[in-house]
Amino acid sequence: MSNNESLIDIFPDHGTLPADDTMRAMVLENPREPLVYKVIPKPHPTARQVLVKIIACGVCRTDLHIVDGELTEPKFPLIPGHEIIGIVLELGLGVEELELGDLVGIGWLAYTCGKCKYCRRGQENLCDDALFTGYNIDGGFAEYTVAYAEFCFPLAPSFNSPAYAPLLCAGLIGYRSYQMVGTSAERIGIYGFGAAAHILIQIARREGKEIYAFTRDGDVVAQAFATSLGAVWVGNSSVAPPIKLDAAIIFAPVGPLVPKALEDVDKGGTVICGGIHMSDIPCFAYEILWGEKTLRSVANLTRKDGNAFLELAGQIPVKTETSLFRLHEANEALAAIRNGRLAGAVVLVI
Ligand SMILES: [Zn+2]
Ligand SMILES: [Zn+2]
Repeated sequence: MSNNESLIDIFPDHGTLPADDTMRAMVLENPREPLVYKVIPKPHPTARQVLVKIIACGVCRTDLHIVDGELTEPKFPLIPGHEIIGIVLELGLGVEELELGDLVGIGWLAYTCGKCKYCRRGQENLCDDALFTGYNIDGGFAEYTVAYAEFCFPLAPSFNSPAYAPLLCAGLIGYRSYQMVGTSAERIGIYGFGAAAHILIQIARREGKEIYAFTRDGDVVAQAFATSLGAVWVGNSSVAPPIKLDAAIIFAPVGPLVPKALEDVDKGGTVICGGIHMSDIPCFAYEILWGEKTLRSVANLTRKDGNAFLELAGQIPVKTETSLFRLHEANEALAAIRNGRLAGAVVLVI
């Protein structure tokens, strides 16, 4: 869909809600099982929280890692989903940051302690007591959710579209990964051209960067998609780029891409692992790390990242390519990500 298409045109029955104090949700009861469509009690905000009526929730590869049991500490039963756009409907005690009717985005970082050494030094993404949306607390595969007001991102009214939901994780994590390659990197390789990459390339190109897009071998659809967004080179992950890169960002959850990317970058180059889970990284020769190359992961996000990215996304403005599913089709949406057969991002329209 485009960023301006009306929901009513696409889903004529959008907006049919239960009238009582219940809501519809897709619930993960046990790992490695399909989500179950349920009518459950609507949550109520406690102190510092807001109740949000969800407009749309993006589906992220992390949701797949949770459902597949690769991330091992979710609560059960769990409502997944951490790319939420919605409207504030109720304020809990002590909420001053938001007002009724505000449009907000809710991402992966749901709460941090504010006291630990990480929080105190501006690394709240590493907080020991952090909570994560759609993991330790319920997320957005539902009609309503509650969230801590301080961790909601206020959004301009123009963001009132499912097309913007992927900004809340794919966009944000891509942006944090991009910042970590440093401003001097001119030639940047992206490994795995999905939701995060298709947003990131729009920011990188605006800053004059050359993007080299690597996809699963033979994935001509993703390669054509990357070309259409301005990648200067596209190719299979197993192939070397035509020139040494300054940096590499790996979004595909594939450990063997780490030594491959280290080989692809030049002396002084940086390799960033942007995913929350990756298969094992094979043993590799020290020689490919030699030359002051840097290898690091990106963990979660800070609110500072979120605010900076969302402002930039509005200015560019970032456009997304989305495939829309209804709430009860969440299992099909997850399968679409697993199969990698859709270009861009996947979003549930609630
Ligand atoms: Zn903390
Ligand atoms: Zn995510």
